[in-house]
Amino acid sequence: MQIQSVNHPDAPHHPRPQRPVRLLLINPRFPESFWSFRWAVEKVLPRKRTINPPLGLATLAALCPPEWEVEIIDENIEAVPLKPEADIIGVCGMGAQFKRQRELLNYYRGQGFYVVAGGSFASLCPERFADLAHSVIAGEAEYIWPEFCRDFEQGRAKQRYQETGVVNLEDSPVPRFELLKLDQYTTISMQFSRGCPYRCEFCDIIVMFGRRPRTKTPVQIGKELDALRAQNICNVFFVDDNLIGNKKLAKELLRYLGDYQQQHDYQFNFGTEVSLNLADDEELLRLFRAANFSWVFIGIESPDEESLKETRKTQNMRKDILAAVQTIYAHGIDVLAGFIVGFDNDTLDTFEQQYQFITASGIQVAMVGLLTALPRTPLFERLEREGRLLPEAYHGDNTKLGTNFIPKRMDYQAMVNHYQALYRRLFSDRTIAARIRNKTRYMKRPVYKGEYTLRESMHIVGALFARGLLTGGPVRLLRFLRTLITAGPRVWPQIMVDWIAGLAMRDYIKRHFRNDLERERRLTQLTAARLRRRCATSVRRGALEVATYAGEVGTNLRVMLQGYVDRASYKKVARRLEKMLRRSTATLTLCIEELSEKQRPHLDHLLQRLAPYGDRVSIWVSERARPLLNIDSSVFHLLLDKKPTQAPAAG
Ligand code: SF4
Repeated sequence: MQIQSVNHPDAPHHPRPQRPVRLLLINPRFPESFWSFRWAVEKVLPRKRTINPPLGLATLAALCPPEWEVEIIDENIEAVPLKPEADIIGVCGMGAQFKRQRELLNYYRGQGFYVVAGGSFASLCPERFADLAHSVIAGEAEYIWPEFCRDFEQGRAKQRYQETGVVNLEDSPVPRFELLKLDQYTTISMQFSRGCPYRCEFCDIIVMFGRRPRTKTPVQIGKELDALRAQNICNVFFVDDNLIGNKKLAKELLRYLGDYQQQHDYQFNFGTEVSLNLADDEELLRLFRAANFSWVFIGIESPDEESLKETRKTQNMRKDILAAVQTIYAHGIDVLAGFIVGFDNDTLDTFEQQYQFITASGIQVAMVGLLTALPRTPLFERLEREGRLLPEAYHGDNTKLGTNFIPKRMDYQAMVNHYQALYRRLFSDRTIAARIRNKTRYMKRPVYKGEYTLRESMHIVGALFARGLLTGGPVRLLRFLRTLITAGPRVWPQIMVDWIAGLAMRDYIKRHFRNDLERERRLTQLTAARLRRRCATSVRRGALEVATYAGEVGTNLRVMLQGYVDRASYKKVARRLEKMLRRSTATLTLCIEELSEKQRPHLDHLLQRLAPYGDRVSIWVSERARPLLNIDSSVFHLLLDKKPTQAPAAG
């Protein structure tokens, strides 16, 4: 194993502190996406804030010298500290988190901290972090992170640590799960393998981890499960990109897990990602069931053979994909799946084809994305050669409303419109119910039995009825009841899960898919005009300023609080802004320049009313006002750059 470190002339000199090094690791806030299942997490599931914890940071913590004091902050569940006590601040991130990762690195670097960048995006594009971080960890951390730690202690940390060889996962330690607030996540992440033997053209996994799957030993996995058992965890997600990339080793693991579960009263409910050829192997399916895997995520991508061929998804070709999904259901295992539209072979008719397939397959969690070219992938390189990449459009989340290249056989805007229409159809009550029936026809004995206590289960069912089913009117309720009575009671927990997932995705569509940009622009301008009129005195004195801008998508309203604003005006502002956010998908930027103790309760009240729409609210606070105010950056997008003069994109 050769480790390559690149010296950088600008790397600051950080002498070894005379006490254990304090390391703060931060997982930046994700922009909301389908994967957030926000409605489910906030309205239905008890005590949860988000889906998965940052496993990579817990692993990194375990790779530090034992005497180091390590803290992990996940901005998806808690605010980032603006004045932390730390010697090093490490900020990780995937492509979808890049904007926030950059903002955090800039901020902490500006505050005089030694900052380190890592994560999958820094591994793919380390050059984009050269000016952002003192050190960049590019690649798997098992060997290069301890090297960085040693160098830092000796005051000679380098600018880049680049993993160039193959990491043996048997050298990967048990992640320090105890540093994560595990009770706030619905499912806890673990990892058995890295790498996948296939060669899909769009995939960045094989660029990062290679095509020969590397695995931990079953005994290592047992130790990790012991650590999770000690924390009373039930739901575990093996985040492997393809757990069955090496079938022989996967079977060994599954046998081990089956025994482990038996010994521990089947405490764990597992899920993972696999390739579709799982359906071809009866033994593998039986082992998955015996180990209590209740769901698998599969990249189906397209029911169109030509599109699969184009993207080299050979493992899905020459097979009846629908029958394969039904075979997996028949073993009691639920299927979540990824679908892609935008291959060169695709036309607008592809959307209808996808709709028909997804409905027939019964897949409720259908993550349909527009094909996106991720940096360093063969797809990216091909499109670059063909001159079809759109600059600066990369957002790393392919369920967003757009892509980063020019489609071949579709008009770009027509493609986006059809994409939205597809999702709206898929998450109508009728189609949610139809998919459940198409699934339960094959799934008679689901592995999933629910992991909640009786009290929690009652809370969940009550919340589903009160906040999801009854609000949809009698027709939705009837559709729900029909899905129950056409299946046996044994399948009911799975049906509840499907309704919760379906309604959560529907809620996301309602809040994020833009219906009528012109109407939104008018509504935002009307809100601005009314605020100016109703708070005329504060506006005249210059204490309140209201303006509208064209945002990245749609219109943004900016409100600046820069002097004394009375209680009555605060109330009017709160009411108007809340109404605008509730009735549109517009974004809001709140700049707080001045704040007094007296005004603080009024501002708290305003923030409380805006919190349910926090993913569309960006807040900037001046240095002067900061000591008086605690903005929860896991709720709002707390802007850490200089004061925005234009509309920033909400996080
Ligand atoms: S099967 Fe999945 S992980 Fe493997 S190459 Fe294809 S997209 Fe990547």
